[in-house]
Amino acid sequence: MDKKNFEKKYVGKDSTLQQKIKQQQENYISQKSKRETLPKNNVSRESLLVENNENENDINEKLDNIMNAIKSNNFSVNQNFIQGNKNNKTENKFENFSNKNPLRNYFRRPGISIKLPTNYLYYEENDIELTPMNELEIYPMTISDELILKNPDSLSNGSALEKLLISCCPGIRNPRKILNPDFDAILLGIRYSTYGKNMDIDTTCPKCGKENSFSIDLYILLENMKYLDEKPYLYVEDNLKITLKPYSLVTTISITKFAFEQSKLLMILNNESTPDEKKSELIDSITEKMTNFQKEVVLESIESIELPDGSIVMEKEFIKEWIENCPSSYINVLDNKINELNTIGVDKDFDAECTGCGNKWKQKISYDPTSFFLKR
Ligand SMILES: [Zn+2]
Repeated sequence: MDKKNFEKKYVGKDSTLQQKIKQQQENYISQKSKRETLPKNNVSRESLLVENNENENDINEKLDNIMNAIKSNNFSVNQNFIQGNKNNKTENKFENFSNKNPLRNYFRRPGISIKLPTNYLYYEENDIELTPMNELEIYPMTISDELILKNPDSLSNGSALEKLLISCCPGIRNPRKILNPDFDAILLGIRYSTYGKNMDIDTTCPKCGKENSFSIDLYILLENMKYLDEKPYLYVEDNLKITLKPYSLVTTISITKFAFEQSKLLMILNNESTPDEKKSELIDSITEKMTNFQKEVVLESIESIELPDGSIVMEKEFIKEWIENCPSSYINVLDNKINELNTIGVDKDFDAECTGCGNKWKQKISYDPTSFFLKR
């Protein structure tokens, strides 16, 4: 099957999650094709693709591991996972300072305190410690935190982000449970505390191609954050009420990793030297993995299902069976709603206007930690 037919088959049943993953894959592939033109020490995820001689079995194994990471809410994907985290309570480095040090009062202080957009509807008491105003204190990054962020290898696995959260937000006791909208707000807060309120975004005008540079006020983004007042839900036919939950940090990272690994399979697929029978095998495998991955993500995002008689099902294994046996259209409806839910909180785009031709458009702000801290 050639690329066009593949896309017909593959694109034909895209849900929002699939579109998102495909978008990321296209980014990786286009970044790879132009990597020769990138500066040598450009620190970003595309450099991971450069030395990639893996065969598809390795990639498939990684994809399976990523799926398991969501199931077990653990970054089992990488071996560098923080070892000291034994009793599921993160070490609070602020408790380890020597009290005798006269410089102790001059250590970093919180740069900002913010209320988290999911409004603590999903966290348990011990997950997070807040100020009396119900806010989370955010500290600026130390030099070690910055170093972690400059290493694409450590960033592509979850442990680097986990370390960053522990270092800059001592109030977070369980970083893996941090939900996606809160995570974006926290990243913004960390950047604000460390480098101040302005962030420059360079972008090309989609109409005339002129390079534009915009300065965004991060404080205003934080001020205009939108909060959840209740756990979002929707009804599907048969009067089932499905209550949803945003992605946890583990799922967020898994989605990125999944897109990255799958883009390697797509590269093998797009390679002219790959024989046709191999290609059709690959297409089946990619499609199947994508479907299974999507089911895991939907499962992770359903908190409970209420039956018409008022009884509530929360057991993952029952919900999983329902996902396997409900009409596929439900999954797509759920998937859209879940994606919507994951974008609440801080704005994900701003109004851009070209200085050359006056064209106006919505420019996306990427909260991808691999790029978010790169540019000052
Ligand atoms: Zn323009």
